[in-house]
This record gives sequence, structure tokens and C-alpha cells, in this order.
Amino acid sequence: MLQGDEASDAGAERAPGVQAPAPGALPTVDQPTAGSLPARVPGLADERGSDLSGASVRCSAALGDPPTRNGVNYSVGLRVHVTRSGQSQTTLCDVLEEVNRIWWQQAGVCFDVEVVSHDEVSMTQLDLWFESRAPFPNGVDANGVYGGAHEIYSLDEPSLQLTRYPVARPAARTAAHELGHALGLRHQNCGSACDELLMRSGTTGFALVSDSPADVDEIDVVRTNMQASVGGAAVRELGGGQACLGALLNLVESGP
Ligand SMILES: [Zn+2]
Repeated sequence: MLQGDEASDAGAERAPGVQAPAPGALPTVDQPTAGSLPARVPGLADERGSDLSGASVRCSAALGDPPTRNGVNYSVGLRVHVTRSGQSQTTLCDVLEEVNRIWWQQAGVCFDVEVVSHDEVSMTQLDLWFESRAPFPNGVDANGVYGGAHEIYSLDEPSLQLTRYPVARPAARTAAHELGHALGLRHQNCGSACDELLMRSGTTGFALVSDSPADVDEIDVVRTNMQASVGGAAVRELGGGQACLGALLNLVESGP
């Protein structure tokens, strides 16, 4: 079984900055944390609307406004595999839209998502699987794991410690967290002061920046190093006013 990094960074250390995942590096594992799932509390503005009447559909991409940073925002290719997921298409749209709201509203980064029902990895997209149960195919038993750009797993129903400002859907939090690793971020496990942070392990928090003056600017880290972090996945620059696309549920085709 692959070794996790949860125990080693449970202390007061801060994330020292970005580091692109090294080839063969240990996966970043997120162990379940004791605590109950939250009642549904809106975490971010929810403006979604989806049309799931067709077989191949696009979720809404009503993501709200991105922050103003250099007038440029980014979209990163992401293939989501649902081969072993139990989420309905409606739930999947909710989850993927929340993932994108978390990243878009804070960092001006969204994921250009294609959902597929096969396991073929992509050379131009990150690959993430939603799984109904652990252990994952790579043997890791956790809420989620980042093992590389094409080895990202996330539970349909992760067990997370409730925070004061929780996400609406725990699956969105764990997926957004693992994608944070894919964008070059490390854990921020500094105890309760970090509970609201997306890169804290095992909580429902989603903030990318804390009030601590010692905090690294995770958003700057992500935006500066994105191309190097994502392992060949396509990164599109979105100029002023350019919107993100809603997730494309492409579940009809059986894949290559
Ligand atoms: Zn993690």
C-alpha cells in the first residue's frame, strides 16, 4: 500500500511554497477525519441550472465573478471518470460546479471538464476518478489521493470534519483539494487555524488564503506555476470577460 503524507504534516508547519510533483513522488493522501457530515449549508454563491434531459449534456457554468488579477484567468483541462461512481448526473453537475466555483471565485482558475464513463487517461487533461468506495485502484484507502496528473481519486461521499464555513458538497471539497495538489499546492495543516483552508487535510473548508500574515499566497503560487504543475494538461488563458465552460457529460461513448 502506498504511504500517505498525512501523519508527517499534521503539526504546525506551513506550506513553504510550490513544488511541482516529482516523478515517482509519493502520492498525497487524505485520510478520513472523525466528524459528521454537515447539514447542507451554502458555501459559495449557487447560481446553477442544468439541463440533464439529453444523453450528452453540459452542466451550467454560472460560476460568479473571478478575482481581478492581471486581467487574465485560466482554464485547465480535466477528464473526470465515473466508471465506479454512484453519483447521479444531477449530483455530478452540482459537485463539478462547486469545484469550479471554489477555484474560479478565489483564484480565477476553472477546470474545462469532460466527464467520461471509461478509464482511458488523457494526455491533454488531468485525470480524476470519482469512486463510490475506497481503497482506490492504486491501493490507497482515504477520502482522496493525488498520485500524479493522471492518478487522482476522490470519494463520492468523503468523511470530513465540519468547519464553520463548509462547502455545500463534501465530494466537491475533496475533489477541489486533490486538484489543488495537481496545481502544485501542498497541505496547510497548521491545526484549527487552518481548518477553513482548502489545502487543510480532511475538513470541509475551502478558503485558499487565510488571515495569517505568515500564509503563502496560494493563489499566486498556482497562477505562476500552473503550466509546470499540471503535467501536460492543456491550460487556456481566458481574457477579460471570457467565461468557463460548464462540464460536458459525455457518457454515451464507451471510449477508445
Ligand atoms: Zn491532500
